[in-house]
Amino acid sequence: MQENTNPSNLMVSREYKPKDTVITIGEGTSAVKVGGDNFFIIAGPCTVESPEMVCRIAEAVKHAGATILRGGAFKPRTSPYSFQGNEAEGLKWLAEAKKRTGLPVVSEITSISQLHLFNEIDILQVGSRNMQNYELLKALGKIDKPVLLKRGVSASLTDFLLSAEYIVSGGNPNVILCERGIRTFERETRNTPDIAAIPLLRQMTHLPVISDPSHSTGLSELVSPLALAATAAGAEGIMIEVHDNPKAALCDGRQSITPPEFELLIGKIRKIAETVK
Ligand code: PEP
Ligand code: MN
Repeated sequence: MQENTNPSNLMVSREYKPKDTVITIGEGTSAVKVGGDNFFIIAGPCTVESPEMVCRIAEAVKHAGATILRGGAFKPRTSPYSFQGNEAEGLKWLAEAKKRTGLPVVSEITSISQLHLFNEIDILQVGSRNMQNYELLKALGKIDKPVLLKRGVSASLTDFLLSAEYIVSGGNPNVILCERGIRTFERETRNTPDIAAIPLLRQMTHLPVISDPSHSTGLSELVSPLALAATAAGAEGIMIEVHDNPKAALCDGRQSITPPEFELLIGKIRKIAETVK
């Protein structure tokens, strides 16, 4: 086979398919369309801490206007001594919150051997650290469940699109791309948000492109300005970490905003999304 790394030759490219990809998430009455003009907001805790906690936050973000609930159960932590997630049990709590609120749910899968635990989960997240786990990407190409692929911290946009190509060329066209900041020399923020990547990706690919201002900056006070900037730059959706007691969060409390802060922000995001449509 010929080497093919030119992004404009890929199945994920705009050249291959000029129209925006629209993906249906979930089934029945709770199904939502994402991509193109269907602006969507994913919100929830970094990690599901208890059944009560995830239900409480799910109700709050739904009330504020979120379209999809997030919550990590398998947590790929930088340190092996950090909280690793509530794993299979955590996924059950998330599924329970989905039943209660009707919100579709997204959670991170870190190994294909976990797939059988994700039956109730509507979107499989591939985290930044696994963006180049090609065996995982190939396996996700063989199913049709939507995948939320996050950009690796040192991945160029071509690397990012080639990872998406693994899934799409394998037979699964339902891929959402998430810009979540990259690693630079700057240490004031956890990562450096790459706002330009959003309009560039929108030109380069037909896949939905979203922004994660929480991991991009690592600072709760920067989530609102970055979410608004990403929306203005053409993001088709936003993913935000919300916790009702950030100081006590088991994971990523410093970047989590509270439900009232989220509610305030969501109104502003929707106005900007409407303006740039
Ligand atoms: C997350 O979304 O909780 C997460 C771990 O993100 P990332 O892979 O971008 O670090
Ligand atoms: Mn997190």
